[in-house]
Amino acid sequence: MLNPPYRYGQDTTQWITVPPQGYGGIQWVVATLIDGLLDAGCEILLVGAPGSIPRPGLIVSDATTPGAALGALREFAPDVVHDHTNNQLLPTEAPWPTVRTHHLNGALANPANGVYLSHAQRRAAGSARAPIIRLPVNPGRYTYRETKDAFLLFLGRVSAHKGARQAAAFAQAADLPLILAGPAWEPDYLHGILADYPDTAQHIGEVGGSRRTGLLAGARALLALSQPFGGPLGGEWIEPGATVVAEAAVSGTPVIATDNGCLAEIAPHVGIALRSAVVPTPEWAAKILAALPTPEHLRATAVERWGHHVVAAKYLEVYRRAAAGGTWS
Ligand code: UDP
Repeated sequence: MLNPPYRYGQDTTQWITVPPQGYGGIQWVVATLIDGLLDAGCEILLVGAPGSIPRPGLIVSDATTPGAALGALREFAPDVVHDHTNNQLLPTEAPWPTVRTHHLNGALANPANGVYLSHAQRRAAGSARAPIIRLPVNPGRYTYRETKDAFLLFLGRVSAHKGARQAAAFAQAADLPLILAGPAWEPDYLHGILADYPDTAQHIGEVGGSRRTGLLAGARALLALSQPFGGPLGGEWIEPGATVVAEAAVSGTPVIATDNGCLAEIAPHVGIALRSAVVPTPEWAAKILAALPTPEHLRATAVERWGHHVVAAKYLEVYRRAAAGGTWS
């Protein structure tokens, strides 16, 4: 399992682990998939996340470069390599069957044996036939609550393409406070929101551990109002997989999303997917909040569609195909 090796904030001594200490979309996906694959009896070598905790069946390598990864892989001799790094860590001489999950926008650096997170992401990458496997969630790692508190939650990067400003506008219309949890790497964007919605929006920074799961379980709804502009690499942002949707749903919390990218495909099962450009009014916001699914329905739907065992079984099928010499793009 190849995870992209990123450092934790400004701290050059610490790597983001699997699972991550705070923000970490790809790292949560890798951790959850490992949970499911270990339960299915796999033996796994995790590369690219030094400091992660090993457990029975899971070896953690401290390799963070393609050269070191090659050495670790040779020693482990895997049946299949699962690359989550967009070729960043994959040694060019890698002789093993490889499956590549795309976590970003645009095309994979190497589209051979790609796996995509949504139809929208796959379409934008120029693939028509590669498998689509949704992002997994492990219910055992989340808290489920049927009673909710009077706040709305934004959990993620406080960036224009993630729709933090639109979340504040919705919360103001709904007359509920908005908790913005997550790193704000564009401080001007955050300060603009706090200045325009002083009585609604509060930024609490990055969250992890029980604070994170408590917020997910306690919120009246999660706002994932992703916008199709201002992506991290410029140009249109197509929400690729949106881990937070499954995380909220498994906590019994409904999702109010836009229809950007994957959200049009997954959010309607656990909430609502709104048109990206809508401007909220109080009546409209109240109507949406009143029509959301029950916590029980949300948890059951998340486990059935995105549970770690369901998703791991889909990946095992793809691994077997690759190990048998199958190729696709
Ligand atoms: N996250 C977190 N703490 C934060 C903000 C985000 O643990 O303060 C997690 C969140 O729960 C999710 C991931 O980071 O697991 C973000 O992944 P997502 O797919 O939603 O967004 P992206 O990968 O596009 O940033």
